[in-house]
Amino acid sequence: MTNDMRLGTERTDSFHPFGVPMESTVCGQQELHNLLNVLRPYGTARNPVGVTDIKQADSSPAFTDQDTSLIIAGPCSVESEDQIIATAKALAEIPEVKMLRGGIWKPRTRPDAFEGSGEQGLVWLREAKRATGLPTATEVATPEHVELALKYEVDALWIGARTVVNPFSVQQLADALCGTDIPVFIKNPLSPDLNLWVGAFERFQKAGLNRLAAVHRGFAYYKETPYRNYPMWEIPIELTQRLNVPLITDVSHICGNRELLQVTAQKALDLASDGLMIECHINPETALTDAKQQITPEELKTLLSNLTFRSKQSYDVEHDLAGLRGEIDDIDSELLQLLARRMEVSAQIGEYKKNHNVTVVQMDRWKKILADHIATGADMGLPPLLINKVFEAIHQASIERQGRIMENDEESH
Ligand code: PEP
Ligand code: MN
Repeated sequence: MTNDMRLGTERTDSFHPFGVPMESTVCGQQELHNLLNVLRPYGTARNPVGVTDIKQADSSPAFTDQDTSLIIAGPCSVESEDQIIATAKALAEIPEVKMLRGGIWKPRTRPDAFEGSGEQGLVWLREAKRATGLPTATEVATPEHVELALKYEVDALWIGARTVVNPFSVQQLADALCGTDIPVFIKNPLSPDLNLWVGAFERFQKAGLNRLAAVHRGFAYYKETPYRNYPMWEIPIELTQRLNVPLITDVSHICGNRELLQVTAQKALDLASDGLMIECHINPETALTDAKQQITPEELKTLLSNLTFRSKQSYDVEHDLAGLRGEIDDIDSELLQLLARRMEVSAQIGEYKKNHNVTVVQMDRWKKILADHIATGADMGLPPLLINKVFEAIHQASIERQGRIMENDEESH
């Protein structure tokens, strides 16, 4: 296998997930070996920062088009033999799907919720692999999980967002996997902490694991957003600039609902993601975990067919800009949310003024606010003209809203 061989570039008529012909319908060791080996191996980076033993390597991306994006699909949780086999069979009909995911041990926020099917689920997952030829992936959080997952021939492992936050757990998993060569997908930690994420890669690399990939699944955020987990696209982009590992976007856990999946998946591809992880269930309504975000295999097929898989020839420029563009998008979205909140508070003040017979425009207070903002803005390097324009426009909109409230046309919520 040469460095030029990319995942999927050797597709033939018969379906094979890793771009090499498969001798049987069951994923063999050699095919597995090719996964992630053919990608940018861990430790090759264009802009190495703080990572030791980095060799400068071919910086071209691992995947170039639709055929070579790593699409991982499958249920949030393996729930029953029928559920995983039916889901896997339907997914195997979709050529873009290269790997079957299925959670066996589920990290739940509250006790008494469904915590996964455990060892029994591994038997079913192996059955699903045998029935379809799809290689499998599951989450491991403890050395016992590792032992069982290897025993039941799971082909790739992922480390969940709640585990990656804990370096003790990550180290235990790295130790447990030492001596194996299984591909490991490392999800971002729940907290937006790039160094913590990088540290997890370093722990696995030191344990001799080289077939590593990053999974971006969004971050816990202190404010309400349309997402379940805020994407903060600039963080995964920066990770790939530092480590040059393949980047897979878990759009399901970013979105938390079906509606946002399509646009978010497109955005991930536009930002030069190397693959997608999407939760699929044969009957999402009945799913025992994450029911709101799972889609049927049929819906996945439609979603994939509506995606534009972009060529990454101008990869470096696009990739570098993508991080900054993502940051701008995040900031704009925060600005909009702040503006909406400000208007809401202003409307509540309008109600108060109406009930207490106070005029809408309080010129002295406004002049003072504006002067303060211009001075503070200047300290932050912002042009006074900009501050003046922005706040005049905001003030004008507030006055209009309060005026309508005075006239009883509108109420604050
Ligand atoms: C999952 O993939 O089902 C999962 C629990 O993911 P995360 O660790 O990203 O929450
Ligand atoms: Mn899930």
